[in-house]
Amino acid sequence: MGSDDLNARLRSLPSVDRIVTELGGAASPAVLVDVARRAIDHARHLVRDGAPAPTSAAIVTDARALLDAHRRRLLGPVINATGVLIHTNLGRVPLGEEQIDAIRAIATSYSNLEYELDSGTRGDRYSHARSLLTTLTGAESALVVNNNAAAVLLVLAGLCRDKEVIVSRGELIEIGGEFRLPDVMSASGARMVEVGTTNRTHLADYEKAITQNTAAILKVHPSNYSVVGFTASVAARELARLALGRGVCFIHDVGSGLIEPSGRGPLIEGEPSVNVALEDGADLVTFSGDKLLGGPQAGLILGRARLVERLAKHPLLRALRVDKLTLAALEATLQAYLDGDTYRLPLWRMALTPPEELERRARDLAERITLAVGDTVKAEAQATRAVAGGGSLPTTDLSSWGVSLTHPERSTASIERALRHGVVPVVCRIEDDRVVLDLRTVLPSQDENLANLVVVALQE
Ligand SMILES: *Cc1c(COP(=O)(O)O)cnc(C)c1O
Repeated sequence: MGSDDLNARLRSLPSVDRIVTELGGAASPAVLVDVARRAIDHARHLVRDGAPAPTSAAIVTDARALLDAHRRRLLGPVINATGVLIHTNLGRVPLGEEQIDAIRAIATSYSNLEYELDSGTRGDRYSHARSLLTTLTGAESALVVNNNAAAVLLVLAGLCRDKEVIVSRGELIEIGGEFRLPDVMSASGARMVEVGTTNRTHLADYEKAITQNTAAILKVHPSNYSVVGFTASVAARELARLALGRGVCFIHDVGSGLIEPSGRGPLIEGEPSVNVALEDGADLVTFSGDKLLGGPQAGLILGRARLVERLAKHPLLRALRVDKLTLAALEATLQAYLDGDTYRLPLWRMALTPPEELERRARDLAERITLAVGDTVKAEAQATRAVAGGGSLPTTDLSSWGVSLTHPERSTASIERALRHGVVPVVCRIEDDRVVLDLRTVLPSQDENLANLVVVALQE
């Protein structure tokens, strides 16, 4: 092949401007130029490897795929049809109207974030949330940080640095997203003293481990797994009594932040609540804001006022401090609990929706899909099992309903990908070689959009 011929084919490729024009104003100019340039570079490589010059249309198609991939990398909403209520990879839990209104009010105005309106003097960033949290749980005091990992880190660094902290080997957990208890412990400067075995730890194990260097006993809720069979662990109440008798702190990381009363039902069976952890005598209780509490990402520390005061003076707090928008959303969340109306929080609304209502929505969705795509594609309502997720209640599931999809010519993997690549991505499950859309985690306001997105994905 002559070099003249190669040059002619390279010259025949369209210009960046031309591809940008063909793409239309679908994104900012810088992004359009970038994807056009990459698509043309790709065409150049093909030509240099001996292929005929791709047509402009082929290069535009290539650029459009790059543009779609670019969009998928940006932060954006997705429809969670996985049936996993607290889905860490999908942003844990959605917030509701009131939480968003609270964020908007504080974000778009000055506020009394650190200003005492009574006296007209400098105030405390944590005082508003503290007053709601203490009213709600009966705790003496409270502090809010960026997430529960930060809460545990602050407690250990603030109260246990260079001292020993006793923890059961059955509770040396890793929570998704790199929260590993031994690593948090070492980052805090506290020395971890492991007691017991993976499946069994007894009160005597803790007793024997206490020395004059012991600062605390730490109990961690093994949120995302459960040890079954020949097991033993020590109840929080007994650990609290032991800690009190020996003059050390008892810290209880309950993780998911279940506050009573939330809704009842199978979701909360076996999950330690914040209220009970405090009643059982923990000096400090830590948990997340965006798990079963149903609020924004935050880490909450509740317990004895003298300990919380020490933490509030710790320099690390400045680094872990929570943003005013989070505090606004948290306040609205706590207000729903104080009003005894957790149904206002999307998490609890989704968790407590009766299966019959989900069944009705599933049948409706299946029918809409079938009407639009014909009955070669099977869209069927079916009973499913949803889970709490996010490291809560690993062994409990909730009866739910969803729609399963099977296509005579397409693999489940290709349908799953088409759903994920839609204008609004839909994330689903694959079960027994069917695509399953679980409605437990789909907000009713998303049903219509979901139907359209599924139809588009099936017709691709
Ligand atoms: C989830 C969890 C954490 C980590 O909380 P984040 O808010 O994600 O930082 C720590 N401990 C327990 C027991 C948990 O369940």
